[in-house]
Amino acid sequence: MTKIYNFSAGPAMLPAPVMQKAQSEFLDWQSMGRSVMEISHRSQEYIAVAETAEQDLRELLTVPDNYKVLFAQGGGRGQFSALPMNLKMRADSAEFLLTGSWSVGALKEASKFLKTNVVGEIVMQDGLSTVPSITAAQVDQKSAYFHYCSNETVDGIEINNIPDSGDVPLVVDMSSNILSRPIDVSRFGVIYAGAQKNIGPSGLSVVIVRDDLLNFAMPETPTFLHYKTMADFGSMYNTPPTYSWYLAGLVFKWLKEQGGVESIAQTNAQKAALLYDCIDENGFYLNKVHPDFRSKMNVTFHLTNTNLDTTFIKESEQAGLTALKGHRNVGGMRASIYNAMPIEGVHALTKFMRDFARRHK
Ligand code: PMP
Repeated sequence: MTKIYNFSAGPAMLPAPVMQKAQSEFLDWQSMGRSVMEISHRSQEYIAVAETAEQDLRELLTVPDNYKVLFAQGGGRGQFSALPMNLKMRADSAEFLLTGSWSVGALKEASKFLKTNVVGEIVMQDGLSTVPSITAAQVDQKSAYFHYCSNETVDGIEINNIPDSGDVPLVVDMSSNILSRPIDVSRFGVIYAGAQKNIGPSGLSVVIVRDDLLNFAMPETPTFLHYKTMADFGSMYNTPPTYSWYLAGLVFKWLKEQGGVESIAQTNAQKAALLYDCIDENGFYLNKVHPDFRSKMNVTFHLTNTNLDTTFIKESEQAGLTALKGHRNVGGMRASIYNAMPIEGVHALTKFMRDFARRHK
């Protein structure tokens, strides 16, 4: 069988050793004669899984003690609605930086609960998408929070510099670049991320919330989305997605074995550089994002001759390079190269791209 490299944007590939470990204990976990997904979330054994996963995540991201780590349900979009409901009693409005599909999605959902204000938007400079920098003076200091998305999965845009929102709590959707590099958690009020890229299987989401922000929920907030309740119940107010949480725990262990986020960040930078160098090489491929904002996780590109798109997809699939078709809203191609994608996968892709360009010039 041809070696398959899966460039799916999410649900994305998980590290091979994690899948192998899960497979080896699928039917008989810890010699219990059962799968971990078949035991109570309140059992001592499962609580140990949950607590270890949280501890490992805290260690990986150096989460300060005055933050709660929640393992929630409902993915990224679940948090689009949980967030405004949980912060509405701070103020009746929120500020947004719009850089692509997902920051727009978060704003749309928030506008059901709060007045929303757009502080900055993506601008085109010489045909390249550029993100304006934000200063505290631009942000309404009376608003409940300032929201942005640190990596726009669809558009391939990543923001490396944290915006300055002054005293307004900074909230970030890190769904597609959490754990890809070190971050200073203390700069944020809330960090949230759907799991299906760098954490584990879909459905699960992780929320890291500063203690002082736990008491601003509107009374109508559904209890299972209420951060304070989630925190008080150790993310077990209702039955959590136990198998996803277990798998996330295995991913955290794997990441620690790789040397943690500092080390994976270097590999991620290397992988992205290989791919962008190949795209920039000779005009056959084109990336439309300003170099400062090119995503290291979702590398978007177009073929200058779009008539070759279908052939590119067909031939790449035949070469074992799957899921390279760009998002339906933007077209072109997208290679998602999250933590689990080995550098060999990127070498295989660049080799194919160069060969394709040579044959179709
Ligand atoms: N935010 C970002 C940055 C995403 O990439 C996604 C999904 N790809 C979402 C939010 C929505 O996540 P979900 O489908 O889990 O609700």
